[in-house]
Amino acid sequence: MSPHVLLLGGTAEARELAADLATRPGVRVTTSLAGRVSRPGALDGDVRTGGFGGTDGLARWLREHRVDAVVDATHPFAAGITANAARAAVATGIPVVTLRRPGWCPVPGDRWHSAASLAEAAALLPGLGRRVFLTTGRLGLAAFADLARIHFLVRSVEAPEPPLPADTEVLLARGPFTLDGELNLLREHRADVLVTKDSGGSATAPKLTAARELGLPVVVVRRPPLPEGVSAVPDVASALALLELTPR
Ligand code: NAP
Repeated sequence: MSPHVLLLGGTAEARELAADLATRPGVRVTTSLAGRVSRPGALDGDVRTGGFGGTDGLARWLREHRVDAVVDATHPFAAGITANAARAAVATGIPVVTLRRPGWCPVPGDRWHSAASLAEAAALLPGLGRRVFLTTGRLGLAAFADLARIHFLVRSVEAPEPPLPADTEVLLARGPFTLDGELNLLREHRADVLVTKDSGGSATAPKLTAARELGLPVVVVRRPPLPEGVSAVPDVASALALLELTPR
């Protein structure tokens, strides 16, 4: 019978995996999306949307849909679904391959400040600048809401969820972004500090180069750890290899 692969998605890597797996005769691929983005874009293979209802719900779904293998290709900050997938693997015996793109590393010239959380990032800002380019996504911005004397340029794919800081300008945009574009944006808005999660990948990395070229400090929010006992592969080819499928 055809193997059924469930991709836990929401990333470029999951999209790439779906495109690859959908072309393989005899492989059935379903991508699961949380449903946070209203227009997620077309995906190859089948798509299901919305939470499973915790670990038990995910385990039930895997059994009911006769899933043979799961690839957790969710965003490095999506710690809840990654933990659920690891527990569901134990409960069902269905293998889960965890794909995590590598995090970013500072290079000479970078002025990075590491933060364990959005709250810690917010606490660092008064000592670093007055005009912040905030790129940590649309959720969790309440952590910055009390910083009344700082101007925020918030960039996110969809409208950020309130509460927001009093002096906030919103820019709706979806990557990939270019170095020239990021340099122009930082200059136009006279940003003097950048805040980002350590998302990794190339699509949103040019902002880091732009900040370095302009000599700006960057607050980098560290990733949540992987669940105990889980190890990750760094890219699509390695995930396919673990599924025992060579890249096309
Ligand atoms: P999360 O905190 O790990 O997940 C919270 C709950 O959302 C999960 O327990 C699960 O609900 C549901 N969920 C998450 N991802 C799902 C998926 N792919 N399919 C079905 N249900 C899912 O996740 P999050 O940080 O809110 O991220 C949500 C999605 O957005 C992820 O798929 C991630 O890849 C994508 N994303 C996240 C970020 C980020 O910065 N966090 C950035 C870009 C993209 P149940 O317990 O009910 O199953």
